[in-house]
Amino acid sequence: MKRIALLLCLVFFAMTIKSQTQSLPQSRAERTNYEETSRYADVLEFIHQLQLNSQEIKVESFATTHAGRSLPLVILSRQPAAAPQTRRNAAKPVVFIMANIHAGEVEGKEAMQHLMRDVVAGQLNALLDKMILLIAPIYNADGNEKIDINNRTAQNGPKGGVGTRENGEKLDLNRDYMKVEAAEARGLIENVFNRYDPQVVMDLHTTNGSYHGYALTYSPSLNPNTDRRILAFMRDKLFPAVTRRLWEKHHYHTYFYGNFSQEGRPQNELNPDQVSAPKAWATFDHRPRFGNNYEGLRNRLAILSEAYSYLDFRTRVDVTDKFVRAILQFIAARPAAIIKLARDADKFSTATGTTKGNEDGFGVNFELKASAKPVAILVGSVNRVIDPRTNKPRLEANTEARPVLMTEYGEFQATKRVPPPLAYILKPEQRKLIDMLLTHGIVVETTKQEVTLAVEQSVIQEISRAPRAFQGHRETKLQVEIKPGKEKFPAGSFLVSTHQAKAALLFYLLDAESDDGLVNWNFLDNELDAAMKSGARIYPIYRLNALPKTPRVVLKKITEK
Ligand SMILES: [Zn+2]
Repeated sequence: MKRIALLLCLVFFAMTIKSQTQSLPQSRAERTNYEETSRYADVLEFIHQLQLNSQEIKVESFATTHAGRSLPLVILSRQPAAAPQTRRNAAKPVVFIMANIHAGEVEGKEAMQHLMRDVVAGQLNALLDKMILLIAPIYNADGNEKIDINNRTAQNGPKGGVGTRENGEKLDLNRDYMKVEAAEARGLIENVFNRYDPQVVMDLHTTNGSYHGYALTYSPSLNPNTDRRILAFMRDKLFPAVTRRLWEKHHYHTYFYGNFSQEGRPQNELNPDQVSAPKAWATFDHRPRFGNNYEGLRNRLAILSEAYSYLDFRTRVDVTDKFVRAILQFIAARPAAIIKLARDADKFSTATGTTKGNEDGFGVNFELKASAKPVAILVGSVNRVIDPRTNKPRLEANTEARPVLMTEYGEFQATKRVPPPLAYILKPEQRKLIDMLLTHGIVVETTKQEVTLAVEQSVIQEISRAPRAFQGHRETKLQVEIKPGKEKFPAGSFLVSTHQAKAALLFYLLDAESDDGLVNWNFLDNELDAAMKSGARIYPIYRLNALPKTPRVVLKKITEK
């Protein structure tokens, strides 16, 4: 009797396991034979179903969108509750993957559902022995819910349409990393980047640029102020290994992101139809308003992924999925090396106030650098089909692609460098600027006494403002001359030492000549007007090359727990 009961028990147990496996969710893409993409509710339900199947998954909200949607951050870990506390004890690297920042580019959102399922209940579970995985599968949830067949009409599916590029406030979240205007961006930086400090950040997109022969293109940080050791590791080790694996295992061609140009010099935003015999392959932009460049300035390994939008939807989801898996396998084979790279970069910045490779100053002006030798780039082509539902052309990639030797503009170089000071100092009335620094996780101290200090002043030679608004801003650029001076600072002034982990980021935010900092995004407009009116033309953030003797305390963010 006992034996029978045990047997029954075992049978029941086996059935439970089987039914649990059967109850594992499918993404909306899978359920519709890749004719539709997941809605916000589909993604939440998918995560909920996974939670019923595993103790190794926890969900937090990292932001609430303009329209009031709570954004899920999925934590996959052997001990998900302990994830934020263990992030700095260096046992396992934290890897963060975000999808759907542009909600017309939905492949990552589907691929990450499939990946999460395989981590909690499938073949990828062993990854959790080597890393903590954080996944934000639907970053631009408001844009996602505006699914329409008239968005991204040239893209080869899904038939049911996709969301919009912008968020609910018409902001492009991948231009918002420095100015942090969107609630989504603030939540991402404060509750993911600052809280978990992931060593690796992957951002999943879809490109509709030039007609090339790659299933997916990728990019590390393109800002030359990024730590050289991190960039060398990514360009020379990580990307070549992943590229090889995707070709050998799955027959997908992948390469560094770029667009073709007809002439010797690259041109952005060129109509791909106008490039018949391309002469160059050029990457996009060095500025940290883009996530990959921003994370580079935080001394972290940033990976931009761009599935090729003229492949069919199922293939785009698949190549995105395979690309992410190949990177995770690469990381799982050397977790200590990944942790060490980020830690060494932080240590170097803290000791020197700069990043490895930028000891003679950080770049403020940049240009694309031509490759020393021509590079074989795969040139592809597309077929044009009129989509009967939109009456607009849809482009479908041809399988044939041919390698063509051409100049590659894959990296930027600084054309002007400025040595960082030992510290910047700001006055008590500039609290608004300080709040931005705290949002970015930068350490700020306040002074306890009034002091008069020898400073370096940046004297404004020229202010140029963009004639047209971009993301609601007239971008502003200064030219300055640095001169010695003396200035009185009341008690409660703010001191920002460059000798901290985020030296490159704080320089980019505060430097007078930065092309993507607080000046650029109009945070200083009133102060600049006053400086010009007074005739003194002094940029209102001062440089110090000796630290004041006045006692100081580290400033905490008011909202900080
Ligand atoms: Zn995109």
